Amino acid sequence: MGSIPIGRIAGFPVSVNWSVLVILWLFTWSLASTLPGTVPGYSTWAYWLAGVCGALILLGSLLAHELTHAILARRAGVEVFDVTLWLFGGVTRLGGEAKTPQGAFRIAVSGPLMSLALAVVFAGAAYGLGALGVAHIVLGVAWWLAGINLLLGLFNLLPGAPLDGGRVLKAYLWRRYGDPVRAAVGAARAGRVLAFILIALGLVEFLAGVLVGGVWLAFLGWFIFAASREEEAQVTTQQAIAGVRVADVMTAQPHTAPADITIEDFIQRYLLGDRHSAYPVADRDGSIIGLITLAQLRGVAPSQRAATLVREVAIPLPQVPTAAPHEPLTALLQRLGPGCGNRALVVSGGQLAGIVTASDLSRLIDVYRLASPHPRVGH
Ligand SMILES: [Zn+2]
Repeated sequence: MGSIPIGRIAGFPVSVNWSVLVILWLFTWSLASTLPGTVPGYSTWAYWLAGVCGALILLGSLLAHELTHAILARRAGVEVFDVTLWLFGGVTRLGGEAKTPQGAFRIAVSGPLMSLALAVVFAGAAYGLGALGVAHIVLGVAWWLAGINLLLGLFNLLPGAPLDGGRVLKAYLWRRYGDPVRAAVGAARAGRVLAFILIALGLVEFLAGVLVGGVWLAFLGWFIFAASREEEAQVTTQQAIAGVRVADVMTAQPHTAPADITIEDFIQRYLLGDRHSAYPVADRDGSIIGLITLAQLRGVAPSQRAATLVREVAIPLPQVPTAAPHEPLTALLQRLGPGCGNRALVVSGGQLAGIVTASDLSRLIDVYRLASPHPRVGH
């Protein structure tokens, strides 16, 4: 939502959410207003220029933190969807989990370690540049960057999901209990406790007169609270649907669309008067070559509809998640991504057996939540 793609770094799609402007402003303002105290004697515009440069380098540091998570995830065999910078720093969206507690631990701990390493690098740079007699304002920015990266590294290691420290805790509990679900619930609950502590500290700060800092801390606590609850709900859902197979939720024998009709024909003959919004695309010999959804149709200008074939705009089969009918649904859920609108084709013996759609899934999850109001998650 509201994210602007800025390209690929190390093979990962990176985007920036508009809310980054808020932290860019906060960082700039906080640096520009503290520098006159630590390195006096410069003009106002010099402090603001230093503030902007420092804030941009800090965003770069946040990106380095996220990319470290992404690289370690890729190394552990976990798919990385994308990396986004936003209000509270960065998010790396992963398409699943590490297979082992050790892998999960490495992915979680790598980001904070990168922040701590950057703190050392900036402090070293400030020290070295100071010896070379570089302008004091530059040193002030370098020390500030070292300080904030140190703070970021330590803060992220606080033990509560969704913070990195919470994932470290989860990996530890996973190793101890041998059960990733129970570990995830433990880490999510620790996250809730942490959130209450942050909110309380924020209120105390606010009452003590540190207005912006207090509000920020309380806001951060509230965000962690919401995220940890969301995480616990996700885990309990997974638990609830643990025995469900793909075949139980798929729409069997879905309508297919021929690859060689035009988009115009496809809309007239298939989409109108049918309730489906995604169709497997079949070649002349009946083999499935891809998937077409409303999202692809929106990309074709109305004037081009009569001249464009379904096969030209369909998502090619290798990019569509597929599943076997007997596969557990939880395994498929980890592979589903936003690319195909949370849809997957179900294939059995090389033949199309069904399609799983987001509406099938959300209905199923609602039903199972109704059916098991007291999830069997232990303490
Ligand atoms: Zn992190």
